[in-house]
Formats: sequence, structure tokens, C-alpha cells
Amino acid sequence: MSDTAALHLIDIQRTYHQAGEPLPVLRGATLTLQPGELVALVGPSGAGKSTLLHVAGLLERPDGGQVWLEGRDCGRMGDGERTAMRRTAIGFVYQFHHLLPEFSAVENVMLPQMIAGLSKPESRARAMELLAMVGLAKRAGHRPAQLSGGEQQRVAIVRALANAPRVLIGDEPTGNLDHHTADDVMNALVAIVRNVGLGALIATHNLELARRMDRIVTLEDGVLVERS
Ligand code: ADP
Ligand code: MG
Repeated sequence: MSDTAALHLIDIQRTYHQAGEPLPVLRGATLTLQPGELVALVGPSGAGKSTLLHVAGLLERPDGGQVWLEGRDCGRMGDGERTAMRRTAIGFVYQFHHLLPEFSAVENVMLPQMIAGLSKPESRARAMELLAMVGLAKRAGHRPAQLSGGEQQRVAIVRALANAPRVLIGDEPTGNLDHHTADDVMNALVAIVRNVGLGALIATHNLELARRMDRIVTLEDGVLVERS
């Protein structure tokens, strides 16, 4: 599929087994995400949002269907190639920030870049640029414990973007924040995604926040349904 989409999910199937019983969670989920497009993924708890995001983010292999990233069918890749793809093509943000507590904000954003082979000065320059985009230039030297919940999540967002992935995946990234802070963090996320021009697939419980994105898809009985 030689096109410019950031991500294709095609007829994704995933069944878990609980107490010996099959539990079909994804039954043919299909989605195309374009660069620069923000898609909200909504659905009740247990609908399969995290499962879908894990499959899209190459953390889990589906039982059926295809995941295409950067014009390539990831199902045909071996584990090593998938891991490399996951590190370079995808950024993740979770409900909890998972920042390293003993490192400052800027160091947390530098680390993935240095692991990817960038020099320290290059990593620092890019990290500072990213932190400035979410209004945190003055907090760069602070450790996570010295930051508010909203600031921690904004650092987590730019850390996810540190290596310039084409796809950002968020699994309820504002789910642990109060209403006002969730609003701020989602504004920062939307702004930076638009600025950088990557595709974003964001699971959220908050319909008000979902409406700020370009499209809303819901998971219903294991398939994705476009909401109007
Ligand atoms: P959501 O993120 O929408 O709340 P999940 O994708 O976490 O939903 O879970 C969907 C369903 O799959 C739930 O019923 C959950 O219990 C089940 N499930 C998720 N992960 C596993 C697993 N590793 N093993 C067995 N069942 C699982
Ligand atoms: Mg979930």
C-alpha cells in the first residue's frame, strides 16, 4: 500500500481467553489515520480501546488483519524490525506519565533521542524546543516530582514526540487529571500535533475533549464506527 497515510488498521481481530472461554475483543476494526489528523477513540471501559492501541502501536500482534505504518505491512516484520519501528515511528502517552523520577524534564525528553543516537547537544536543543511548544521552557530543569500533574503529562507528550514519530498514540492521557487540567493538557496536545503534523489516535472518556479532534470513532462490538 504505497500511500501517504500515517497508519492503516485493516480488519483487526483480537480474541483473548479468560477462564478457557474465548473473549473476542476486536472483530474487524478498520481505520486510516492521515498525517496531521487527530482522531478520538471513545467507547466504554472494556470495549477494547487499549487493545486496539496496543495493536496499532506494535505492542501486541493481532490474531487477524493488518497494521500498516510508513507504507509497510508490520505483520510481515520480525520482532526486531517491529521493535525498531515502534521506537521510531510511534510515540506513546499513557494515563500515567511514566517519567523517570531522578531526571529533569529536559533530560527525560533527551533520553529517547540519545538512545536513538543523537548527540547530547542535539538532543538538548530539540528537547528545549519541544518543551517550549507546550509552555514548559521554564520548567525544563525540574524533576517530575516538582511538576504539577498537568505539567508532567505535557512533558510525557513531548517525550513521546522526541524522535519525531509519524503517529502519536494516547491511551486516556488526561484520564488521571481534573477537568480543568485535562482541558489544558488536551489543548497542548492538539496544538503540538497540529504544529508537528503527525497523526494522532487518542482514547478518551471525555466526549467534550473528543469533540476537539477532527474525527471521533467509537468501538462498538469490536468494530470502529465513525460518529457524526
Ligand atoms: P478498554 O481499554 O476499552 O477499557 P481493554 O482493551 O483494556 O478495554 O479490554 C477489552 C477487554 O479485553 C476487557 O474485557 C478486558 O478484560 C479484556 N482483556 C484485555 N487484556 C486482556 C488480556 N491480556 N487477557 C485477557 N483479557 C484481556
Ligand atoms: Mg483502556
